[in-house]
Amino acid sequence: MVNIKEWISGENPTEKMYLLEPYVRVLRSKLMDYVRERSTKYYIILDKSVFHPKGGGQPSDVGWLVADSLRFEVRKVIDVNGVLVHYGRVMEGNIPEIGSEVKSLLDWDRRYRVMRIHTAGHIIDYAISEVYGHVLNTLGAFHGPPNPYVIYEDYPPSVKELNRVEEIANKVVKESLPVKAFFVGSDELRNGVVGAPNLSRLPQAREYRIVSIEGVNAVPCTGTHVRNTEEVGKI
Ligand SMILES: [Zn+2]
Repeated sequence: MVNIKEWISGENPTEKMYLLEPYVRVLRSKLMDYVRERSTKYYIILDKSVFHPKGGGQPSDVGWLVADSLRFEVRKVIDVNGVLVHYGRVMEGNIPEIGSEVKSLLDWDRRYRVMRIHTAGHIIDYAISEVYGHVLNTLGAFHGPPNPYVIYEDYPPSVKELNRVEEIANKVVKESLPVKAFFVGSDELRNGVVGAPNLSRLPQAREYRIVSIEGVNAVPCTGTHVRNTEEVGKI
């Protein structure tokens, strides 16, 4: 068993491309280190990565790492104290020397589906709050295929209320509203957010990433979203 925490201690945090440019699906990165788990299975760290790790209600991205001598299947990515650890197997060739260039390639179909589903989650948060008349905290969420969900903390909705949620959510989709992500300092957080659930549970940080849907809501979130509500498709 590899002790991941011990192995990555002293490494710099990985530059997370998905926070800035969620539509980047291929990235040239530098191989920082790797360790074998068993047979062809390895853990790999890079200086920067396109892969979103498992967390925040999102599943891990999957894809490939490619170099002249290597084809590596990325099966799971985890965030360990800010360092993204790519777990997978060598499909062909060998892992090159540390410091070599490695190209990371996302399984884009899957990622894009997650981006659409995750954005739908933000839209449903809004639609629910419109129907209930206040922002509802959430108890859990999964923003990925095959069965995405959000669990809200309140009384169960009636069929009529559910229909109304669906109607409002699909209106937001049809309105083709821009979805933007930006960073604010902790002192600007209260002014930056609109209609955000779970604010009292937000961990302390120096900086927060806010994902805003124009005229709908603006919530702290580190996930990946589409640029425009129309891309979500019918909810
Ligand atoms: Zn989000």
